[in-house]
Amino acid sequence: MADMPEYEVYAIKYGDHNRMRSENFLFKDPHDEASSIDFFIWVIQGGGKTYVVDVGFEQKEAEARGRSLHRLPSEGVRMLGADPNKIEDVVISHLHYDHAGDLDSFPNARFYLQDREMAYCTGPCMTHAPLRHAYAVDYVVNMVRLVYDDRVQYVDGEMQIAPGLSVHHIGGHTDGVQSVRVWTRKGWLVLASDANHFYDNMAIPNPFPIVYNVGDMLDGYEKLRALADGNEDKVIPGHDPQVLSLFPAASKELEGIAVALHEDPIGDMDKVWRRTK
Ligand SMILES: [Zn+2]
Repeated sequence: MADMPEYEVYAIKYGDHNRMRSENFLFKDPHDEASSIDFFIWVIQGGGKTYVVDVGFEQKEAEARGRSLHRLPSEGVRMLGADPNKIEDVVISHLHYDHAGDLDSFPNARFYLQDREMAYCTGPCMTHAPLRHAYAVDYVVNMVRLVYDDRVQYVDGEMQIAPGLSVHHIGGHTDGVQSVRVWTRKGWLVLASDANHFYDNMAIPNPFPIVYNVGDMLDGYEKLRALADGNEDKVIPGHDPQVLSLFPAASKELEGIAVALHEDPIGDMDKVWRRTK
């Protein structure tokens, strides 16, 4: 479309954690097996700029929670040839520990955050241990400091960051989780982040068990499809290890680390989405 760059979009894996597949679903799923949850950030390039979506966790939090950190999220940005010091726009999908830890590595960035996310993670719900468990209080406090430094761009619902690049409130997983919609050579691509964790959560559907509002989470899956113009193949989940094998590597050197989401999939999307031909 006119006036919109065709952005290049990359998923970068920065960590992982082994667990049972059944831990990914709120409702019982009989097909249990060993599996992994992968931790990603995303980089968007186009119109002469680089944008980052989420900033992962750092070593201290990885140790506290028994997660494997393969590289700092900002290091992943560097591997794609961008300098974290020069990044001006960072979208924070929500403030859970695995999305909001490496803030200091982006000293010149403005952070896009939903009003409702900050209200949720500093409000009355956090008196409930199960709801605050996935937040790291230091990361939340860091974000509060950034508000006072004029470096947080609050969003109420949706906002265009640049032509062909916008954020959209989804909710469900947390009250303020947001996703990113970006224009690419193959049309609208949606980075769900934790509005959808695994392909199966949305495909079955069977929600991820860390959830503030189950109804909003299920509605959110439909919102994500709509943002992708009805093409679920273009909705990228936040934690699914299959992403690394479904899309081509960003480069030979980055095999197993970063994939190009704007390229056509190299895996079987019908199988991923449980579609019968
Ligand atoms: Zn997450």
